[in-house]
Amino acid sequence: MNDCIFCKIAAHEVAAQVVYEDDDVIAFEDVNPQVPVHTLIIPKQHYAHVGDNVPPDLLGKVFSAVRVVAEAKGVAESGYRIIANSGEDGRQTVHHLHVHLLGGTRLPIRMGPAD
Ligand code: AMP
Repeated sequence: MNDCIFCKIAAHEVAAQVVYEDDDVIAFEDVNPQVPVHTLIIPKQHYAHVGDNVPPDLLGKVFSAVRVVAEAKGVAESGYRIIANSGEDGRQTVHHLHVHLLGGTRLPIRMGPAD
């Protein structure tokens, strides 16, 4: 995808603070962190969201990277939350599949009211 910011990060054409990388997956710090630990984990190949016919083995690689990133960020023991916003109602703003890993603080127990 020519104008996808996350594709450009995956290709190292746009700078990011990379936490983890392998042949298929890259994880980097969210540019606008919502909590002390806020890292994004993406497949390097472009898929719009988790429901975009992503090959199961690639989904497995993305979710396997969650554990690696949680350890790298020091939250594997304390706990964390993963979120994959998908589509309009999911409030997805970057349309390249990504998993938010959130932690480093005690997270709210549930979502607030819709706005
Ligand atoms: P979402 O709303 O789930 O699509 O989340 C997109 C996330 O990408 C937001 O948390 C943004 O802060 C983050 N983001 C957007 N552009 C960049 C970038 N260039 N580097 C790192 N994070 C980004």
